[in-house]
Amino acid sequence: MVTHPISAFSGFSGRRARFEHDIADTATARELVVRLLRQAREEGLHDAPGLKQRLLQAGVDLDMPRLADARRFLDSDTPLDAKAVETGLTPDISRLILQVLDGDLAIRNFPVFKNRIANIYAHTEAAAGGAVASYIPELAKQDPNAFGLAVCSIDGQRMAMGQADTPFCLQSVVKPLNYALALALNGERYVHHHVGREPSGQGFNELALNRDNRPHNPMINSGAIMCSAMIRPGHPVDERFEMLMRFWNSAAGGQVCSFDEAVYRSEQATAERNFALTRLMDSHGVFPEGSQPERALDLYFRSCAISLDCRALSVVAATLANGGVCPLTGHRIAEPVAIRNTLSLMLTCGMYDFSGEFAFVVGLPAKSGVSGGLMLVVPGVCGIGLWSPPLDRLGNTVRGLEFSRRLVEAFPFHIFAGTTAGPA
Ligand code: GLU
Repeated sequence: MVTHPISAFSGFSGRRARFEHDIADTATARELVVRLLRQAREEGLHDAPGLKQRLLQAGVDLDMPRLADARRFLDSDTPLDAKAVETGLTPDISRLILQVLDGDLAIRNFPVFKNRIANIYAHTEAAAGGAVASYIPELAKQDPNAFGLAVCSIDGQRMAMGQADTPFCLQSVVKPLNYALALALNGERYVHHHVGREPSGQGFNELALNRDNRPHNPMINSGAIMCSAMIRPGHPVDERFEMLMRFWNSAAGGQVCSFDEAVYRSEQATAERNFALTRLMDSHGVFPEGSQPERALDLYFRSCAISLDCRALSVVAATLANGGVCPLTGHRIAEPVAIRNTLSLMLTCGMYDFSGEFAFVVGLPAKSGVSGGLMLVVPGVCGIGLWSPPLDRLGNTVRGLEFSRRLVEAFPFHIFAGTTAGPA
């Protein structure tokens, strides 16, 4: 019998972000402890190692900062009683453990999920074709066989495959967070006075603006340069870049980003298009008051050279999937509405001239870049970071596209999957 893939795997919890109010909840710390102890007893768990084992089986990253205070307890042999649990675990972590025991994490059956992702990875690895970008000379040095993948759920469940620990420069994958930061600093009205939110229907670096002489959207070069102009104009570029790095690091849950100076220099020396785009926008007088366009361009080049690995990228994607709260730290990076706006534009404009097609077939917010990176967001479930340098003729990573197609065949992740699903 052929099973429909959606009904075959309904193992995801409510598909909504876990905001602070979920964490605070109405239960008091004492009530949580009572529930946790009762649940643990029912499952035959009597000590801290038992709980730790269950967290591990559920794929929860025990090294995440959120768990730092709980590690002393979890790493001990302490028997489970009210006093030990109350002093050893914060309410946030008691709740997380309760979710594990209740089978209510974002990815319910992590071992099965992990197996299927590993399978998709193996099939995707065989996908051939494409060419490594060379218009930025430094990028041409990338290994065409490099392939890494990582997943992080909104509850901090994590897995990785292949070269998931090799840093690569983000290139256009940086654009969603540049936009989110511009929104966080200036608000939606101001930002969208300077940049549109329609797909352009043209190449990412086309010398073209919309009817109002503004960039079509923040996911193409002109729009990203414009967003850079709205990140603390008037301050030294070094300071502005530091702020952007801090934003990326907090979305990634740690100090994990670096700067690829060689790529920055290489791009700066060959970026006639981006210089021309900046001049074009300046000639129309559409940059915000007080911004110096050439500095905005410099900040844009620097941002494209931010480097991180697939593991970290998956956490950034998970932060977006979680409405702006990093699953590893519990820290909010931006208001939910800024994140929703970012996801909307990733869905409609994130995959170059393939964005409409990608939204149709895959139905997930995503952003790719010419270094072969792909950030894929499954709202309310998880984030995925992928890197494989060979690109198709539209600039998307070939393996990234193949993986995305297979992913939504295997899981009910397409944004409209619910309309085609049978009973769960
Ligand atoms: N820094 C690259 C450029 O401006 C980014 C291109 C991309 O990844 O789409 O051309």
